[in-house]
Amino acid sequence: MFGGSQHHFWGICAAILVLIGVVPTARAQADFPIDTCFRPARDGERPAAILADPRGFDCRAVTRGAGPGDYWVLSAPLPPLPANVRVQSGSVWQEGMTLYTRYANGTIRAGGFTSADSWRHLRLGALFEVPIPRAAARPVRLLWHVRGAANVRGIVLHPRLVSAEQSQRYEVQLAAFYAAFGGLAVALLLFNAALGTALRQRFQLPYCAMVVLLLGYAASSSGLLGQLTGMDNNLRLRLNALLLAGTLSAALIFARRFFGDVVMRGWVGRAIPVAVAGLMATTTVYVVTLPYRPLLLDRLLSLVFAATLAIAFPLLWRSWQGTDRYARAFAIAWGLPLLTASARVAQALGLIGWSFWVDNSTLVAMALEACCSAIAIAWRIKQIGEERDQAREQEMLARLLADSDPLTGLMNRRSFLREAIGRREPHLLVLIDIDHFKQVNDTLGHDGGDQVLRVFAEAVRAAVPPDALVARIGGEEFAVLADADATDLPDAILAQVRAARMPYDLTVTASLGSEQGAIATEPEWKVLYRRADDALYAAKRAGRDRARWAAAA
Ligand code: GH3
Ligand code: MG
Ligand code: MG
Repeated sequence: MFGGSQHHFWGICAAILVLIGVVPTARAQADFPIDTCFRPARDGERPAAILADPRGFDCRAVTRGAGPGDYWVLSAPLPPLPANVRVQSGSVWQEGMTLYTRYANGTIRAGGFTSADSWRHLRLGALFEVPIPRAAARPVRLLWHVRGAANVRGIVLHPRLVSAEQSQRYEVQLAAFYAAFGGLAVALLLFNAALGTALRQRFQLPYCAMVVLLLGYAASSSGLLGQLTGMDNNLRLRLNALLLAGTLSAALIFARRFFGDVVMRGWVGRAIPVAVAGLMATTTVYVVTLPYRPLLLDRLLSLVFAATLAIAFPLLWRSWQGTDRYARAFAIAWGLPLLTASARVAQALGLIGWSFWVDNSTLVAMALEACCSAIAIAWRIKQIGEERDQAREQEMLARLLADSDPLTGLMNRRSFLREAIGRREPHLLVLIDIDHFKQVNDTLGHDGGDQVLRVFAEAVRAAVPPDALVARIGGEEFAVLADADATDLPDAILAQVRAARMPYDLTVTASLGSEQGAIATEPEWKVLYRRADDALYAAKRAGRDRARWAAAA
């Protein structure tokens, strides 16, 4: 088992290396950001006229104040570009866009898409990509006509010029990143599902739900879902919001079940159901009504997210201060996703600028959370293994105590009957009763009588074969169960008892009654027992200190 979790550990390390490797190389490759200005578009305006005489454009970097609608977005004059250049921009809510390229010789070419067919232009990382058509002259300026822009994050979001090779490289790197994340998440899911079944703990179900929703969010927000299904891009954006809210809700429900009452005390525990309800309700309204009042609802949604995160911080802080080491590992694992989620909320509220990596930081952080969780789970499995070994030892000890007679160490009546009844073959049963034991007690006192019982028990045990059962079935009564053919046994016991050295050299004798018979069923056992008991009684009557067989009795 532990070889297995070590295996996981190295797998996780490799995945981290892939993630760390992808992040800086993707940033390091140079591409050209494009500065843009915008203005509302009116019906009947011609791109040629606007490109020839661009007027009334607003060059603020933040466009959201302008509200939703149709827009013209004009680039700064382009630098000399290599052939085969593409324009990439962040995927945003819009009905459609057309990109006009103006060349040095005055020609204009157009290309574009609508929300319905934009999946053809969707690259991994959820970037729109439109090629600049090849022409005899070099491209000098770009003009976008965007229809039905929600204009929440921007109209044309962070447009950049990238070469075809560069675009290809991004695609491969991001595919590696998402594949690493997906693999990690699937492993975590299986790991937790298996552990949840084994441990029957209530928090495993919301945790698995969270990982499934997160996988869904990764597929949707990466643009992969769009590429695979050809779905409408605006629908994909709606799905993004729902999946992210679902992931966060599942995480909150998980946390509520995972942490004890100490962490959940007071307002934190009570706030979680409210936060989940608020999160899902606001997201649903936002998603259903888009693009109606998008900015207002986006603000509202961001505030609900911020409020939800505000619960998570005291929650992690309390678990960090607690004594449970498992909860501490949890606090470390979740610290990072929480910080990146906060960065995203800050980005959505316009407190920090838009960045691809902030936008996708949830996945990076969750990948690291997955690694921490995997290590915590491996640690928990180790702990469970130790607990199980301990429980087994204790159970064995408890069984031993419950089944044995504390005075003599022999089996007690209960365990003797349990072990004896049901055996297939016929057996020999010998019942032994110490003679005049009352007198022994009267002579030596109760403690002395106990001492006699101990020595007597040892003598009986020494006389019987190792595979026989020996029990103290009453105060001064013993029973032996042996193979049916051990017919010498009663005499051997009698001899051993006679030879035993008793305290104060007291002479102690015993009477024995024996019988052979079947013991496969309870009635058979009762018959055998009665006959052996009758034989014992016969031995007593005949003068004690002797053995009798039932047949002779
Ligand atoms: P008999 O030869 O007919 O068997 O006479 P007996 O005195 O042995 O028979 P009886 O069954 O009347 O007495 C058994 C005595 O054993 C009574 C009881 O005080 C004593 N005894 C039972 N259990 C214990 C025990 O655990 N320790 C001691 N010291 N005495 C016990
Ligand atoms: Mg008795
Ligand atoms: Mg007796």
